[in-house]
Amino acid sequence: MNAEILCVGTELLHGDIVNTNAQYIAKKLAEIGIDVHYQSVVGDNPSRMKEGFHLGFSRADIVICTGGLGPTKDDITKEILANFFNLEMVYDEASYEHVKTMYARFRKDMPKNNMRQTYFPKGAKILKNDNGTANACILREKTDGEQYKIGILLPGPPKEMKPLMDEQVIPYLKQFSNEVVFGEKVVVVNIGESAAEEMIMDLIDNQTNPTIAPYASAGKVIFRVTAKAKSKEEALEIIKPVKEELFKRFGNNAYVTESGLVEDRTAELLLEKNLTIAISESCTGGMVASRLVAYSGISKSFREGFITYSNEAKMRTLGVKKETLDKYGAVSEETAKEMAFGAAKVVGTDIGVATTGVAGPDGATEEKPVGLVFVCVYYKDEYNVLKINATGNRDTIRERASTSVLNLIRE
Ligand code: ATP
Ligand code: MG
Repeated sequence: MNAEILCVGTELLHGDIVNTNAQYIAKKLAEIGIDVHYQSVVGDNPSRMKEGFHLGFSRADIVICTGGLGPTKDDITKEILANFFNLEMVYDEASYEHVKTMYARFRKDMPKNNMRQTYFPKGAKILKNDNGTANACILREKTDGEQYKIGILLPGPPKEMKPLMDEQVIPYLKQFSNEVVFGEKVVVVNIGESAAEEMIMDLIDNQTNPTIAPYASAGKVIFRVTAKAKSKEEALEIIKPVKEELFKRFGNNAYVTESGLVEDRTAELLLEKNLTIAISESCTGGMVASRLVAYSGISKSFREGFITYSNEAKMRTLGVKKETLDKYGAVSEETAKEMAFGAAKVVGTDIGVATTGVAGPDGATEEKPVGLVFVCVYYKDEYNVLKINATGNRDTIRERASTSVLNLIRE
């Protein structure tokens, strides 16, 4: 089975709003093994909408359309679908009651226009919309080619479309798909995207099931390993050897998270091992703490964070020595170590971490260029320091620095 997504709305076409509906629907379909080969956007123009449906049904088994279920004259997707299958529009009493009830909720009379929302192509399965007046519908009909086609019409507003999709459309479509698609994210840090891809190019080239798709974001590369199978368990079995091979090639720099977020893995690790942590930050200015705090439940581990931006603050708050700052400077391995140690000692935690670097664009010297960052993790009298030469702008460098220090907290 494959589907095409057709989104109707001139505001989409002109770039006034982002087509989040298509993204949402595509993702949901992928989860139940229905491929999407095309997505299209068409304005509120009858002949072009008609063309959109014709083209959609000519190349897909299912066309899912969002928008145009409103009460106004330009809301005509139902009529166009009915027309495509040569069906008449018929009145639906339950939808009339529905629209009336929705209006009564706001103590308003139902405008005459809304009668449009009580007519559907004959034979359509009507989906009750709990979040708006416009009920949705599914039509499964034979075309001239004697082949069944499925047309699904959903309202445009995402807060109406999403629950309809989750609670009614997906369960309906599941009967036509005996596959599940399941993926896991293998996150790789400290290796650039092209280098990482090159290291597993043979695997990517030979992929069919599972597939390996890379994408990069600041300081990390995520490989999504996706399998199609009869069940989630079977999919996991298919993914397993590929995942193991990725770990083998990337060594300590790879791990699996559902979210793809380094901080989630770090938080899970800290909680699992029952370790407490204090964070001292210079160039990241609170980013490390903020990312960790995004993980709910981290209060069992995270005690305190310091943004010690000036040398004076590093000395007063963390006990960094003046001689260290004078001799090596704030951006140095030595300062990073004293910051990490200081944080752990001042707060009394198992782990202390530190970031110090040149985020740019100013403040660089010849020996300390923009992007030079030292991150350090102090644990059990040992220091794990990483020197990074990050590229990019101030935001990217700071994000890379925080990703690196979060990732340095390892087993
Ligand atoms: P209404 O009753 O509001 O007219 P409708 O089903 O006719 O609903 P549209 O008129 O096409 O839908 O869109 C209503 C609103 O829903 C848009 O103004 C926009 O804010 C949002 N919307 C529509 N389509 C999309 C989309 N593809 N992605 C994200 N938002 C959308
Ligand atoms: Mg509308």
